[in-house]
Amino acid sequence: MSASLVPSSAESLPVVCGSPFPSCDRAWITIDPAALIHNFKQLETVLAPPTQILAVVKADAYGHGAVTVARTVVAQGAAALGVATLAEGIALRQANLTVPIVILGAIHNPEQIQALSQWQLQPTLCSPEQARCFSQHLTAPLPVHLKIDTGMSRLGPLWLQGSEFIKLVHSLPNLDIASVYSHLATADDPDPSFMVIQQQRFEQVIQHAHLAGISIPRLHLANSAGALSGQPFHYDWVRIGLALYGLYPSPQFHSILNLQPVMQVKARVTQLKAVPAGTGVSYGHTYVTPHPMTLAVVAIGYADGVPRRLSNQISVLIRGQRVPQVGIITMDQLMVDVSDLAQVKVGDEVTLLGQDRDQSISADDWAAQLGTISYEIVCNFKPRLPRIVLG
Ligand SMILES: *Cc1c(COP(=O)(O)O)cnc(C)c1O
Repeated sequence: MSASLVPSSAESLPVVCGSPFPSCDRAWITIDPAALIHNFKQLETVLAPPTQILAVVKADAYGHGAVTVARTVVAQGAAALGVATLAEGIALRQANLTVPIVILGAIHNPEQIQALSQWQLQPTLCSPEQARCFSQHLTAPLPVHLKIDTGMSRLGPLWLQGSEFIKLVHSLPNLDIASVYSHLATADDPDPSFMVIQQQRFEQVIQHAHLAGISIPRLHLANSAGALSGQPFHYDWVRIGLALYGLYPSPQFHSILNLQPVMQVKARVTQLKAVPAGTGVSYGHTYVTPHPMTLAVVAIGYADGVPRRLSNQISVLIRGQRVPQVGIITMDQLMVDVSDLAQVKVGDEVTLLGQDRDQSISADDWAAQLGTISYEIVCNFKPRLPRIVLG
């Protein structure tokens, strides 16, 4: 950790980790742009022209820091960015990103419609009522993306009404159809049956629109899993989130691509103590030392995004060795058993997620223990943790 490091929240401040700089005093996240670039290039190997990548950077780029990620992938050739909300889109424009930005969520409020125009953000339209509302409130043409529900049962009219919806939007003033898209519900399932049905429904909608004389400049259907599924789902854009961050939507994709995790989660040892056998550790004494033990207090907790439900279930890495976490994880701190680590010192770096020498712990490991997905693990890390950009 002697490289020159830059916190994403204050990009002008050069930081050297391990110095008394506050960013790395307690707990932090490292973001590795080289891994992001590697993943982008890996994804390009499974795509063919005209397909381009719309990089999904919603939810602060799945906890990685939207501005850093967006700048990196745009420099690699990402054609567009995807966010969930108006505020997320504005934040990217304020950071001087000029590529098309698609809002993947639904916006209805007239004031937000004004703001979309002002910031040149491109909304998703998903119902006739919303389309009419947009058309009424806009004073100049705005590129819009039409979402069709082909089986996700989330945003968009059902595919049966899809072509009518496209015709309506086509006929309304000030709405410029920039793309038509849909979203796969089961793309991480090794069984492609339902994805194929969704694609057939999508194709049907597009064909009907074409028969009505409407040409659609761009189509897109696949998320990360859809793009890797081996099915012909690529069209003009693939909307890639998770895979950019070096995580696999499902284990079967490990054989297709080599992805590198972009995020690591680190903290420091803040105290060491020797305790006798029979000592209760943390709230509720859910852990009682079976023998004399050396405990290390680590400065990260559930308020930083380490799930409290992982208490007594995870290990962390210190000096390249795996040591068990013991007792309830508290809001800002947790304890680990370092009895087998003779060299450990206050100030040592602790890896919660990431690599330390030949050991590593992934968001998938935590997700499996919690019965959730890696998406939820990485999105859960709070702004309190500084994002340190390596390099
Ligand atoms: C979040 C999102 C994506 C990205 O999905 P990944 O599985 O992370 O690649 C794509 N499309 C839409 C509509 C989304 O909301």
